[in-house]
Amino acid sequence: MSRVVGRSLLLILFAGWFSPAGLAASVSLPHPAPRGTITIIIDDIGYRYTDALALSLPPEVTFSVLPNTPLASELALSGHAQGRDIMLHLPMEAHSDRAQGPAALTSDMYPEAISDTTRQALLSLPFAIGVNNHMGSRLTEQWQPMQALMRTLKAHDKFFIDSRTTIGSVAEQAALQAGVPVARRHVFLDNQLDESYMQGQLDRLIKLARKHGSAIGIAHPHPQTIRFLNQALGSVSQYGVALTPVSQLMQQPSVPVADYARKEARTATTAPR
Ligand SMILES: [Zn+2]
Repeated sequence: MSRVVGRSLLLILFAGWFSPAGLAASVSLPHPAPRGTITIIIDDIGYRYTDALALSLPPEVTFSVLPNTPLASELALSGHAQGRDIMLHLPMEAHSDRAQGPAALTSDMYPEAISDTTRQALLSLPFAIGVNNHMGSRLTEQWQPMQALMRTLKAHDKFFIDSRTTIGSVAEQAALQAGVPVARRHVFLDNQLDESYMQGQLDRLIKLARKHGSAIGIAHPHPQTIRFLNQALGSVSQYGVALTPVSQLMQQPSVPVADYARKEARTATTAPR
C-alpha cells in the first residue's frame, strides 16, 4: 500500500474513532480540498484501432496525437467533440535508430525545415493547443533545432510539454527564451503494463502534485492502461488532488515544478550547446 493511500486510510480511521456514529459516518465525510493537480496526457495516439478505447477516459485526460497517422484526424475530432484537450505529439530524432514515423524533426534539418515541418503538422491537427515530443532523445539536446521549434510554436500560440526522453534536454530553456509556456513530464505511468506497477506510478504522480502543486503524467493507449486509468482516476480526489486538463494547468501563472528551469535560463550567459 502506498504512503498516500495509507495516510488517507489512517485519517478515515482516526475520524471514525472520534465520531459517535463510527466509521460509517466518517466514510461519508467530504473529500479534502485539493492540495494539487494531476494532469494526464495519453500520447502515441493514431496508429492502432484500439487507440479509440482512450475515448472512454474522463474528458480531463488529454490526447496527444501523432500527425499523419491513419486515425489522427478521426480521434482528434472525436476527442475534441468530448470537450477534451488535444495536443500534437511531434516525432523527433532519438539516439536509437528506431523510426520516428511521419513528419519527424531530425538534426540534419535546417531551422527553416524544422519550422516548415512543425507548421505542417500543426495544420494537420487544427484542434491541437500544444505540443509534446515523441521520442527525441537526440534532438531535444540540441539548441538550434529547439530554438527553431519554439519560435514556430510562439508564432502559432502553442505551449510545449517536454516529454523528457533525455536528461540532457534543452527544450524547456529554449521555450522559456522564446516566450513559449512550458512544463515537463514527471512520471511515465505505463512503462510496464501490470496494474501494481501503474498504481505505484500513479501514487508517485499524486505525491509530486501534493508536494509541488501540480504534476504531469504521460501514458499510452494500451488497453491495459485505459482499463487501469478508468478504474483508478475516479478516486484520486480522495488523496487530495484534482484531475486537471492540460489547458487549465498551462493557464496558471507559473507551473512550479518548471521553476528551476526558469532560473537556469536566467543565469545562462550563453546558449546551451
Ligand atoms: Zn511517443
